[in-house]
Amino acid sequence: MTFLADIRDAVGSFADRAVDLTLPLTCAGCHRAGTSLCGDCRMALAARLAAGRDVPAGRLAQQPGALQQIEWCGSYDGITRRALERLGDAGERRVSEPLGTAIANRWALAGTGGDALIPVPAPADRVRDIGYDHAALLARVAGRRLGLPVVEALRRVPAPDPDPRFEVVPGRRIFGRSLVLVDDVVTTGATLATCAAALMAAGATAVSAIAVAWDQRQLTAPRPVLA
Ligand SMILES: [Zn+2]
Repeated sequence: MTFLADIRDAVGSFADRAVDLTLPLTCAGCHRAGTSLCGDCRMALAARLAAGRDVPAGRLAQQPGALQQIEWCGSYDGITRRALERLGDAGERRVSEPLGTAIANRWALAGTGGDALIPVPAPADRVRDIGYDHAALLARVAGRRLGLPVVEALRRVPAPDPDPRFEVVPGRRIFGRSLVLVDDVVTTGATLATCAAALMAAGATAVSAIAVAWDQRQLTAPRPVLA
């Protein structure tokens, strides 16, 4: 755990924001000082993440598991990757605004609708280190723009193997609803499929998913082909 995370644990969530504001503020795109994402880079990022701009709309040829649809906004490189690293690794929650907006725009254009957004819960050590769950932040921004509620319905189950396992938090309203998972990066879709299976078992009528970026670099064979 980092020294910063120790401070965050000690002083609680209100002061998280104050700690966030003391991080060295440089643009995720061009390293200009004084902003987490400058106006020029915000426009460049929005253009990269705009629907259909650099990623063909389509589905993974091998649609994983129970998922009805997987969408993403752009490929995991360049300014998109740097912005996601700022959000997910460096503790800069402010970057959730443009990235969550991209999710909302993409889902409004290409998604199959849904009744609620369900963030894929981040690993506990990640949440401890950066002070928040980055997928939950993305979902909140996207939910505001899409007019959809965000339900933190899933939690990770400790498992001996490296593949994450999830369960539905008791009392969350899942039954009879069409749900949309929200995550930062999708690779094979295996994690999303695991989440979808848990939600379907709890009575969801359908589960789709959207991520900010698709990381094809991490793929091992067989390589998904866009339909
Ligand atoms: Zn910039």
